[in-house]
Amino acid sequence: MASSENPETIALHAGWRADPTTGSVAVPIHQTTSFQFQDTGHAQRLFGLAEMGNIYTRIMNPTVDVLEKRVTALEGGVAGLALGSGQAATTFCVLNLCEAGDNIVSSTDLYGGTWNLFANTLKSFGIEVRFVDPADPQAFVNATDDRTRCWYAETLPNPKLQVFPIAEVAALGRKLGVPLIMDNTAAPVLCKPLALGAAVVMHSTTKWIGGHGNSIGGVVVDGGNFDWEAHAARFPTLNKPDPSYHGAVWTQAVKPLGPIAYIIRMRVILLRDLGAPMAPMNAFLTLQGLETLPLRIERHCANAIKVAAWLAGHPAVEKVIHPSLMTGESKRRADAALKGGYGGLMGFELKAGAEAGRKFIESLKMFYHVANIGDARSLAIHPATTTHSQLSAEEQAASGVSPGYVRLSIGIEHIDDILADLDQALAVAAA
Ligand code: PLP
Repeated sequence: MASSENPETIALHAGWRADPTTGSVAVPIHQTTSFQFQDTGHAQRLFGLAEMGNIYTRIMNPTVDVLEKRVTALEGGVAGLALGSGQAATTFCVLNLCEAGDNIVSSTDLYGGTWNLFANTLKSFGIEVRFVDPADPQAFVNATDDRTRCWYAETLPNPKLQVFPIAEVAALGRKLGVPLIMDNTAAPVLCKPLALGAAVVMHSTTKWIGGHGNSIGGVVVDGGNFDWEAHAARFPTLNKPDPSYHGAVWTQAVKPLGPIAYIIRMRVILLRDLGAPMAPMNAFLTLQGLETLPLRIERHCANAIKVAAWLAGHPAVEKVIHPSLMTGESKRRADAALKGGYGGLMGFELKAGAEAGRKFIESLKMFYHVANIGDARSLAIHPATTTHSQLSAEEQAASGVSPGYVRLSIGIEHIDDILADLDQALAVAAA
């Protein structure tokens, strides 16, 4: 099929036409660990990267490959890598560039699991994460030194839902030779971080891309737009001979294949050594979700705008957080990065405080009370006692979680049913 720039078409067609032997239109589930070599020369060429092809499902798999190609096309990148979870994707993004003694600079506005990974687990690996307030793009520059390997942020971080200034920060990073890695989980289709200057994008496909609450997964997309060789001293993992691959220098070894040094190294070194591949079945289920993503996103966004306006006018509600209701610089940033809507996430605080918040969640009848976002169904949670509970009180405050905050992930049900469920639960909570 001719390539398309349109997400509706990419989501259905990119990376796959039909199975050459059976004619199967749906992507087959290649539920196999290994792939038969044609002969010993073929096996040797595959292992030596002289030819790309399937060896073993820990490293690559044809079902997973279609998902990688489709998310890559959606993000406008050059190559992708699917992993067993969004957490694995974030971990690999950093470990692909960092060794013990190195550091990265990250926005404070992060998913709680990413915060823990950065503040504690990576620290125990000898990798320092320097957290900065994204309100000031210059803070990224100020925290950077010659051991800084990348900058990291989320496009639409909850709970604050303050859109990250991608273009401004990416441009500052490029001046210093530091790539910006964006977690675009909450804004697929709406935001194209690579076009705004980011070097790498990752998604937890568990959320909107899969969209049906059935599969954990992650995808990393290499933008192919960052010159790792021009800043060789900053990126030894990509520019120094790799003893675990006969001394390969990744920026040189893969040149004939395109600007894919970053993602190839992640596949052949990190995936080979640390594991964490996406299972073929999960790739299949995620592809089913992805096929309708652009349509679902439209409905998530339209419903969320209506819910935010309705909550803002409700007498029991103290404050509503959604980009559609923001003003000033926050709104400018949202409009600069997001096209076609403001996402399906929102937060609000009840006038009656934390206890009323608890009562509200327990009174919901249609909304699910779960630790997930981005499902086609509407979801609700109380972050302070769940997703962000492993953070200290100060860390919670820094990431925007107050005790009475309720998070909603607005689904694609009929708007009348969403509002009716919220209305009856608010009535119980206020009583
Ligand atoms: N990034 C964001 C923004 C998330 O919300 C999550 C999970 O909630 C993750 C990453 C981690 O993804 P996963 O749960 O697939 O490991």
